[in-house]
Amino acid sequence: MDLYESLMEIVGSDRVSNGQEERYFYSRDSGAQPPREADYVALPKSTREVQKIVRLANREKIPVTPMGGGFTLSALAVPNRAGIVLDMKAMDRILEVNELSRYTVIEPGVTQAALRSYLKRNHPHLQHSTPEAPPAVTVVANALIQGHGHISPRYGVNSDMINGMEVVLPTGEVCTIGSRSVGPAWFTRGPLPDLSGLFVGWYGTTGIVTKLAMRLYPKPKFRDVFVFSTDEIDLIPEAVSGVTGLDLLEDFFLISQEKPDWMNHCFFVLILSAHVEEELALKRDIYKNFFCNFAGGGKVEFVQDLHPALRKRFLDVPPLAALAADFRKGGGFEYTGAILPIDKIPEAWRKGIDIAHRHNMLCSYVHQVLPGPGIMFGFNYSFNRADPKDVENTRKALAESNRLTYELGGMVWKGELAAQKMAMERMDPNTLQLITRIKALLDPAHIMNPGNWDPGETHEETPQ
Ligand SMILES: Cc1cc2nc3c(=O)[nH]c(=O)nc-3n(C[C@H](O)[C@H](O)[C@H](O)COP(=O)(O)OP(=O)(O)OC[C@H]3O[C@@H](n4cnc5c(N)ncnc54)[C@H](O)[C@@H]3O)c2cc1C
Repeated sequence: MDLYESLMEIVGSDRVSNGQEERYFYSRDSGAQPPREADYVALPKSTREVQKIVRLANREKIPVTPMGGGFTLSALAVPNRAGIVLDMKAMDRILEVNELSRYTVIEPGVTQAALRSYLKRNHPHLQHSTPEAPPAVTVVANALIQGHGHISPRYGVNSDMINGMEVVLPTGEVCTIGSRSVGPAWFTRGPLPDLSGLFVGWYGTTGIVTKLAMRLYPKPKFRDVFVFSTDEIDLIPEAVSGVTGLDLLEDFFLISQEKPDWMNHCFFVLILSAHVEEELALKRDIYKNFFCNFAGGGKVEFVQDLHPALRKRFLDVPPLAALAADFRKGGGFEYTGAILPIDKIPEAWRKGIDIAHRHNMLCSYVHQVLPGPGIMFGFNYSFNRADPKDVENTRKALAESNRLTYELGGMVWKGELAAQKMAMERMDPNTLQLITRIKALLDPAHIMNPGNWDPGETHEETPQ
């Protein structure tokens, strides 16, 4: 029996393909990375089917790349060594919502939009942390890549919200992590050795998550948005530190674009939320006073008349922060997600403008403030997908902003292969060796999304 027939026997004929169209589709994502072709695409429906596919792949020594929505832009779910793309979208059940302990247990194909509308319909006073990504991205992959959502400034990045998981290990065993490994409930991941760290941030190289327990949060009744602006880039770290120090915000992001002209400032967008109106009024006063008394004295201004359309976009969940006036013909959008300490913001800001201009683009920024405080500093690039030169230009700009991120002592979040290589070149050698040993221990046949977090990986360098 050949591999296609074996896969068909596991998942059925309508959930496997080696057809040209599917292989084309799964060989690329919507970012600027070069395409890399898969041999097969399979959509398992159950943990048992995932397990069987992984055992088959071990026997045949064929790579397996798990995929959720496939929307990282950095091609993390595009296979590097062909093999099987395991598209998890057919495992899309919301298995449990625990109202009292506030968590949900979901399968890996559950999209952000599906969980959001399910909660709205059935548990309207609960919410999950929703990224500003397309609605078809998955909740599980987002948490596994340490993504961030609309309540992350308040509650932490989405991987901090994991209560436990079920994982198919690269050798085919099924393993449960967190309180569910010792009892019936998924309510916490401690106090036990925290094995979730073996699967968070590894880009599917250490196992395939088939269930995830995620915390839910009370949904406040009242929300408001405040916008302040400044042209004093050097004041930003102090302002961010002060605002987060008050510890009262739901969301906090910074945006700026060179065009249209009115957006060519740094805008601080503060989302306040509250369970009672008095609480909201108090929070409003506290933030207005904060900026009135801010050391920058008059250099940070309150935006009095926020246009109702903008107000709505900022208050939407997720907010539409990327107004991105520079969207080009061809609709391509990319960014380096630089996780930076806040004192590096001014330098990143100025050098990011230079990078954009060197590559004939207008500068466009969306940065979400994260607890710490640190920042997800987004160097955004829009490009024409149909123009190979423009795509190449974008890759160069990304390479430069990746390099800048590491030079500033930051890290590239959800980095493509080249960005992972930059991280590994700078990493403590013992840490890198530990990563390599853990991968070899869990995945002795080296089949799981090979190339990622692999110090031996060689790939085409982006030209300088
Ligand atoms: C316009 C735009 C805005 C965005 N804004 C945000 C934002 O605000 N916040 C944010 O966090 N992200 C954002 N993103 C980035 C990205 O889209 C999201 O992080 C998204 O949630 C990733 O999920 P996915 O399902 O697309 O992941 P995928 O690309 O499918 O997978 C990501 C990685 O996880 C692995 N993986 C997938 N499923 C499993 C599994 N079951 N088990 C093990 N490994 C698995 C894959 O192999 C891959 O390495 C944005 C993207 C775009 C295009």
